[in-house]
Amino acid sequence: MPLRVPFTWSDDCLRHDPAGEVWVGVRTPGSEVAARAEAIRTALLAAGARQVAAAPHDDAPLAAVHDAELLAFLREIWADWAAAGLPSDRVVPYVFAHRELTSSPRVPSAVWARPGSFVYDTMTLVGPGTWEAARAAVDVALTAVDLVVGGEPLAYACCRPPGHHALRSAFGGSCYLNNTAVTASELVRRLGGGPVAVVDIDAHHGNGTQELFAGRSDVRTASVHVDPGAGWFPHFLGFADESDEANLNLPLPPGTGDDGWLGAVAEAASFADGAEALVVALGVDAAAADPESPLVVTEAGYRQAGRILGALGVPTVVVQEGGYELATIGSLVVAALEGLETAE
Ligand SMILES: [Zn+2]
Repeated sequence: MPLRVPFTWSDDCLRHDPAGEVWVGVRTPGSEVAARAEAIRTALLAAGARQVAAAPHDDAPLAAVHDAELLAFLREIWADWAAAGLPSDRVVPYVFAHRELTSSPRVPSAVWARPGSFVYDTMTLVGPGTWEAARAAVDVALTAVDLVVGGEPLAYACCRPPGHHALRSAFGGSCYLNNTAVTASELVRRLGGGPVAVVDIDAHHGNGTQELFAGRSDVRTASVHVDPGAGWFPHFLGFADESDEANLNLPLPPGTGDDGWLGAVAEAASFADGAEALVVALGVDAAAADPESPLVVTEAGYRQAGRILGALGVPTVVVQEGGYELATIGSLVVAALEGLETAE
């Protein structure tokens, strides 16, 4: 059976080339590369899915989620950095605006200090094309929202860079703009006012999405991820005791496979039950072969996760998050979408 789900796409998402990341002080090749999106797109087309070109959208849905200062920084910093003639070929922070340094918050005048006001790690570099790609990813997500608001039961946003680690006024974790949060916020606005549920099955906690919707009753967030207490990104958030009536964290021990992972996905689905629409933050980095996480989920596990979430029976937008093993990323995404499409 060919996939019926439409997927949205923009070539501009390929323009971001972080040229590696700085991890424990060393420049490493990094794994969030444009070839990820191309591998997924190839698998989707081979499976019969229909490609829909992303349409440009204005900044209002983005401004509902992110501070104007962050958006201006991401839009402008590469040109300023390049003009300053600095020795690094990418924007990378060397100081950080720790809360005890910023009792009277201000953005530094030095271009080399400015990133410390907005980025919380050294792994999320900005270069030529970063803004264009991150902004295009938002258009890819918003075009998937358009499809679902227009009556499609399911649409998939094939976008990168990913977004679920991006906060209202800060970014990190290879994420710049929170595509998943923009999607949920826009579904609330354009459907019945919520609640909309976000279920994040990326291997890492969706800290940005959790924090962006904290204290709001119109978006519920659930995240299934490797336990940050076992030493995994995002380290500072993602613990079970952050759960409340609007947020559910389900941290899992390293080595968790299909049984434990699917049990948590089912719990997240129960938490999402009753929402008028669903956003699935689809990271496929929980898969066994993925280099970025110690979870060992199979392709059949991703298909079953799709079935569990599809059984909620509500309009659903799937937004691509992580997934870094180029040989399997496409078949994992196809499996999850097949499950969503064939759920009873
Ligand atoms: Zn991840």
